[in-house]
Amino acid sequence: MIGRCESCGRDDEEVMAVRRLYVTPEAWDTPGKVERGDIEQWCFVCRTHYPHDDPGTTDAGS
Ligand SMILES: [Zn+2]
Repeated sequence: MIGRCESCGRDDEEVMAVRRLYVTPEAWDTPGKVERGDIEQWCFVCRTHYPHDDPGTTDAGS
């Protein structure tokens, strides 16, 4: 659908529902982790550049 991307804020983009992922890279004193965020509408560019997952997936695992 055409709408507003909730990641970059561009209007009139072809957007798709994704679940935002918050990725913390591994560091010398902390292990890396991935946290699940909210479901948002993202444009193609953001889906290419930023970590995300299928909105239907849950923490229960796949
Ligand atoms: Zn975007």
